Amino acid sequence: CGIVGYVGHRPAVDVLIGGLRRLEYRGYDSTGVAVAADGHMAVAKKAGKLSNLEAVLDETALPASTTGIGHTRWATHGAPNDVNAHPHTDADGRIAVIHNGIIENFAELRSELERDGYEMVSETDTEVVAHLLHRELQTVPDLSEAVCAVCRRLQGAFTLVFADATQPGTVVGARRNSPLVVGRGDGENFLGSDVAAFIEFTREAIELGQDQVVTITTDDIVVTDFDGRPVETTDYHVDWDV
Ligand code: GLU
Repeated sequence: CGIVGYVGHRPAVDVLIGGLRRLEYRGYDSTGVAVAADGHMAVAKKAGKLSNLEAVLDETALPASTTGIGHTRWATHGAPNDVNAHPHTDADGRIAVIHNGIIENFAELRSELERDGYEMVSETDTEVVAHLLHRELQTVPDLSEAVCAVCRRLQGAFTLVFADATQPGTVVGARRNSPLVVGRGDGENFLGSDVAAFIEFTREAIELGQDQVVTITTDDIVVTDFDGRPVETTDYHVDWDV
């Protein structure tokens, strides 16, 4: 239900938890964060309030990282429990994904992936996206291109945000029938389901259009359509308070 992505110079967990706190008004049943650390995605997720996740992080801190993604879930497929909470990862722990919306053709995609030997650990529609991306990256090593290919397979409504532990400093987002906003910072960039996710840090924003993919790094924002063709964007200034 709420999405935050971050690349920059600050401790990612703090930015993500702060963003999720500002998105709490949307309602949710579980929360989670993932940061890129030493070639794997370090994940913490928990059913219930954000304070439950903070208690988990107080007990076992995630590794220091300046790249990460955070999610508040409003369950549509699978009970609101710890396993079904986002982020979801591939079997290698390399890819982490968060999702708002519904992947309508997930059952068909899940069968296809299971035939290829992928094992699902959750009941969510979202998890297929992590495995689809893992499979795509075997032949299309460029993360943004692989995300485009995955999005072309998906039906329904989705805001998706991905992190890849082998590419710290990069976060990729995509959207169809569900919102995604980019926050332009100075030596840092943000993604959010709405501007509340990053308003504390920047008021320069880009609204991502329908069927578009955005790749953020510390000092660049690149937007394309689902075929990888570059798209012109216009910044706007958020001059209201959230
Ligand atoms: N359909 C996904 C799930 O049930 C995402 C729900 C959401 O938008 O938070 O996990």
